Amino acid sequence: MNFADDCAECAHLSASYEAITMQWFRIQGELRIASWSRDQAASDKIVAELTKIGRQRGQLRDAAQAHIDVAHPRAASANSPLF
Ligand SMILES: [Zn+2]
Repeated sequence: MNFADDCAECAHLSASYEAITMQWFRIQGELRIASWSRDQAASDKIVAELTKIGRQRGQLRDAAQAHIDVAHPRAASANSPLF
């Protein structure tokens, strides 16, 4: 995504997106540990959490893209996949 360096909304959106992406990777790590230990109950709980975080991450990504399209149409047309 093409966040603008000098835009407060972009700074906020990119920080939020980065934070939720880190969270997503952390929970994926937890899922791996739960499946190694064959803890089905824990795995189910983590999968539900991962699904929720994944959905929030998608919404945040859409919101960021919508902001970029409106506020920074020139950057949006470059369309480089940062994440
Ligand atoms: Zn912006």
